[in-house]
Amino acid sequence: MTTNALLTNGTVQLLHTAFPDLSRNDIESLVQAARTRTFPAGFDIFKEGDKGDSLFILEEGEVNIVVHADDNQEILVDTLGPTRYFGEMAFLGETSRMATIRTRTACRIIEISEADFMAIARTNPSLLRTLMRQIIGHIRRTDRAVINELNNKNDALQAAYADLEAQEALRSQVIVTLSHELRTPLTSIRGYLGLINQGAMSGNSLKMALDSITRNVEKIIGHTNDLLLLYEMHPKSSDFEYVNVPDILIEALNTARATMEAEMIRVTMDIAPDVPEIFADRRGLVLAIRALLENAFKYSPDKTPVSIRAYRENGMGVAIAIEDQGIGIAEADVERIFDPFYRMEKEGAAQLFPGLGVGLTIAKFVVERHHGRITVSSIPGIGSTFTIILPHRVV
Ligand code: ADP
Repeated sequence: MTTNALLTNGTVQLLHTAFPDLSRNDIESLVQAARTRTFPAGFDIFKEGDKGDSLFILEEGEVNIVVHADDNQEILVDTLGPTRYFGEMAFLGETSRMATIRTRTACRIIEISEADFMAIARTNPSLLRTLMRQIIGHIRRTDRAVINELNNKNDALQAAYADLEAQEALRSQVIVTLSHELRTPLTSIRGYLGLINQGAMSGNSLKMALDSITRNVEKIIGHTNDLLLLYEMHPKSSDFEYVNVPDILIEALNTARATMEAEMIRVTMDIAPDVPEIFADRRGLVLAIRALLENAFKYSPDKTPVSIRAYRENGMGVAIAIEDQGIGIAEADVERIFDPFYRMEKEGAAQLFPGLGVGLTIAKFVVERHHGRITVSSIPGIGSTFTIILPHRVV
């Protein structure tokens, strides 16, 4: 690494540029004391904390000045190029190196020992002033770099706090929604069971009570299944088989109707004759379409009709579109409705529409597992169309 290469006129010129106050004689004395060294890129010329008292003047290449934070994280203070010098802080006394100097590129550097340098500096007070200016400059830049780093860390900390707050808000909202969603059917079940136990129900009313209890139990089981599904979400492909699209739609419609009490809503189904069979996870796909249908029913409080269409998409795959004429979704919400537990009804607002806010999350998860996608187009007050697009064959 060290070569006592011949010091040329270039070296004289370099020292003159770095220390313009020095006389020709002094420069020549420095040249006598100097030796040239070369370093490859990425090399630590010296490390923070090292002992060492020589001064380096960059002839060619660039070096980074790096200091270390407490957690050993590196902070880049400055980058120096030709004619700049470093290492002079050690002249302040018996201190160790205050920064690490790392070559950014291959470098050619002139090294002068403290003893040789100070012998000349003693008779040149202006040289000491130049050194002091350089030292102060370095200290200022170090301060600034450290303060910037602190500010960055502070920003990151603020972001983490905001994230935590959002998570905490979501947690409370999930607990409130979940308690509500479980309490409603449980209260109804308890009511009917009380009446049955008192012997107050018989014949037709007993049958109605038992039907209602069954529906509410199904609702609770449905919620629990949704939560488990959400918890288990991980890709597995063992359940894939060729399935017939109309079968899937009818199965999804029947399960959605059963949980939604949506008999009053007219549903039209339009399946193009050329819709091919698809290679799919049957159970998952039924769940996804069921979630979209339940939403279409639920968010159509005026019992407006819902349409289901299946058609070939670009000849490549199959599209399944579920269209309602319900309350619609504001543009600002569209991006977030697929997030787990996201509900447009805010905490505290009247729970007009029941739900955990996981149906769309599950639907999207299932569709993406089929390498498909799910799109929404919606106008508030007019209605929404959710479209699932599935490739014909998924490997
Ligand atoms: P949930 O319906 O249980 O709240 P989802 O994940 O299925 O949960 O839907 C998330 C949100 O998206 C719903 O709270 C609702 O605000 C909105 N949304 C979903 N589908 C529709 C729809 N067809 N019409 C209007 N809003 C909808």
